[in-house]
Amino acid sequence: ETLDLIQAVEPKLHSFLQVTADYALTQAQQVDAKIAAGEAIGLLAGIPIAIKDNICTKGIRTTCASRILENFVPPYEATVTQKLLDADTVMVGKTNLDEFAMGGSTENSAFQRTANPWDISRVPGGSSGGSAAAVAGGECVVSIGSDTGGSIRQPASFCGIVGMKPTYGLVSRYGLVAFASSLDQIGPFGRSVEDAAILLGAIAGHDPKDSTSLKVDIPDYSQFLIPDLKGKKIGVIQETFGEGLSPDVEKSVRAAIQQLKDLGAEIIDISCPRFRYGIAAYYIIAPSEASANLARYDGVKYGARAENADNLMEMYTRTRAEGFGAEVKRRIMIGTYTLSAGYYDAYYLKAQKVRTLMKQDFEEAFQKVDILVTPTAPSTAFKAGDKSADPLSMYLIDLMTIPVNLAGLPGISIPCGFDANGLPIGLQLIGNVLREDQVFQAAYAYE
Ligand code: GLN
Repeated sequence: ETLDLIQAVEPKLHSFLQVTADYALTQAQQVDAKIAAGEAIGLLAGIPIAIKDNICTKGIRTTCASRILENFVPPYEATVTQKLLDADTVMVGKTNLDEFAMGGSTENSAFQRTANPWDISRVPGGSSGGSAAAVAGGECVVSIGSDTGGSIRQPASFCGIVGMKPTYGLVSRYGLVAFASSLDQIGPFGRSVEDAAILLGAIAGHDPKDSTSLKVDIPDYSQFLIPDLKGKKIGVIQETFGEGLSPDVEKSVRAAIQQLKDLGAEIIDISCPRFRYGIAAYYIIAPSEASANLARYDGVKYGARAENADNLMEMYTRTRAEGFGAEVKRRIMIGTYTLSAGYYDAYYLKAQKVRTLMKQDFEEAFQKVDILVTPTAPSTAFKAGDKSADPLSMYLIDLMTIPVNLAGLPGISIPCGFDANGLPIGLQLIGNVLREDQVFQAAYAYE
């Protein structure tokens, strides 16, 4: 049924870079066989799932939506997809993204533009736009994305679904193609908070293959899905209601806050004065890390290699010139600059200090409240092409999501209404470190 649905809507949405129909049918038959034999089946047995194409799947092409990895077939399985295999999910395909997850609209894919299922002339958000559109368009039940500066929460908001970025280190990054390693996290998309909570439970947990993976026990998140907020304190970050916020988004988010109050929460105004430095700090830290991480694509070890080069240096240069798209090159140039001798202190070190100050804002806030709330994005889904010529306006969409990555906190985006064009609006709920329980409870109560 899912494969039929994909066939019906995919010509309009283009959520997938690859539909893995044969693989999915084989997995589904294996689940059937287990059931027929009376064997135990996994937690997510038979659930059709889509995976962002920056997560390595053994024997299945993984492109990062980049020409440089166009023909890369990983010889190993990411921890997350291994856990999903163990849970007996059925993977229906690899989804489109901004090249190397750099972008906010999925328009930076080297291969195709994904449409927003609510209005196909609009973007699904990004960089996990394919995974969000696939769930919103009914092409799978749940999906997996990655979030470095908002890439799960912002597309969830644009597509009217639930998207969750866990605490940094909760989900293994082994097999996730690195963009900015100190910020990258894998997380779930679903149509409900419950789906997202169950899926997170399946992928979270310590992994010796990821040195930043946290050694913590993973609870059954579904036990926190309680529709009651009595005694909870919810802080509203004042700085996110300023200039640039669409009036429709503000109206819906304020109504959502009132609803949280009606559910029993105490609403408290919170100031995070350094929130506004998030984008500036992020666009030094993330490109710095990206420039180092992407140094490995040199035409020797992976994927594409430029032909007919006269010498090694020319082969490197031409491979990278031909293989990377404009946004990726921009990030590599910025990152190489900010890490270079003489500029390191002025840019990278300074940005790291700002990051620490921003963390302190959150720490202070969480002494007063259990959960923080903001809009997920300042606007709803925009028309394809509207921002692609202006990187800065694209960067500004992540104003409210980026600080959460810089501080390593868990955040979720849940639908909270529609604008005048009938486009979905997202509400972001942020928890303290490892307080996924609080995030899910508040999100579930609201939903
Ligand atoms: N839009 C942001 C960027 O372009 C965030 C991307 C992400 O979270 N992967 O870097």
